[in-house]
Amino acid sequence: MTTQISIVVPCYNEEAALPYFFEEIRRVAEQMERREDGLSFEFLFVDDGSRDGTLSLLRRYAEEDARVRYLSFSRNFGKEAAMYAGLERARGDFVAVMDADMQDPPALLPELYEALCEEEYDCAATRRVTRKGEPPIRSFFARLFYRLINHISDTEIVDGARDFRLMKRRMVDAILSMKEVNRFSKGIFGWVGFRTKWIPFQNVKRVAGETKWSFWKLFRYSVQGILAFSTAPLAIASIVGVLSCLAAFVMTIIIVAKTLLFGDPVGGWPSLVCIVLFLGGVQLFCIGILGQYLAKTYLETKRRPIYILREEGGRAGDEES
Ligand code: UDP
Ligand code: MG
Repeated sequence: MTTQISIVVPCYNEEAALPYFFEEIRRVAEQMERREDGLSFEFLFVDDGSRDGTLSLLRRYAEEDARVRYLSFSRNFGKEAAMYAGLERARGDFVAVMDADMQDPPALLPELYEALCEEEYDCAATRRVTRKGEPPIRSFFARLFYRLINHISDTEIVDGARDFRLMKRRMVDAILSMKEVNRFSKGIFGWVGFRTKWIPFQNVKRVAGETKWSFWKLFRYSVQGILAFSTAPLAIASIVGVLSCLAAFVMTIIIVAKTLLFGDPVGGWPSLVCIVLFLGGVQLFCIGILGQYLAKTYLETKRRPIYILREEGGRAGDEES
């Protein structure tokens, strides 16, 4: 009986890091193939609309190595879309998702595989226990985000969890059955359930090239995550509404009492203006939240494809068709 492991690698402008990664993953794969009979690999690179030489590198790899297949998008659709496309095309009994920059060390793969073979797990996932080498402000907000989202969402989202994981076929199929366009994989992995074994490791610096995530982009991504996996923000409007009603009630009593006891000196319009402005702000804020959910609903109802292919290649692909 043969077992196949598919390695899905989203790549966006990874021309600098890819050669290191490919060499290392091949080394690890060969080492695993040698140790275990009937184990084979498939490398599935997804070029997410790169503007550098990533695609020509992938074409070359596919020519050199029959285990390589690649997909290339018509534009940049984001890592989530690239992962989805890769999982969709992967044929292995086990599927791993890894970054191309070596921040997901390929050397951990044998350990992940063993965890799935020997124990009753459906997924072996990695979790970094340190955020060394990251700007402190970024770590601070990341921690805050995980605390917040775990508080307001029923789906468990593990702090420090990476997308680097090895999954059994049934979990991959479950993930593929979630067709939403606004994909937040950290939530999706948690939502589908299954038994996950966590393997901790130390944070590794990117081997070459640059991160695609600015602080602002990460912030927007975290808002997407909250919108996708929690409806708690929608309750804010009701809570704020009840609180301001209570405040208004107390203030009415105070003002009536004051007028009856001390008469009615005209004045107080500055405070009135402040209150009007404040309430106007709260209302706009709440409408804004509502709008965010509405916008997401609007985009989901269009049922646009998650990605669009421009090119596909690799010898393993030809055989089948
Ligand atoms: N990536 C992608 N599409 C994007 C952004 C990133 O496919 O729009 C890939 C990228 O090539 C890498 C992985 O996602 O393999 C992680 O990206 P990066 O290293 O920039 O993120 P970080 O590790 O800094 O969070
Ligand atoms: Mg990285």
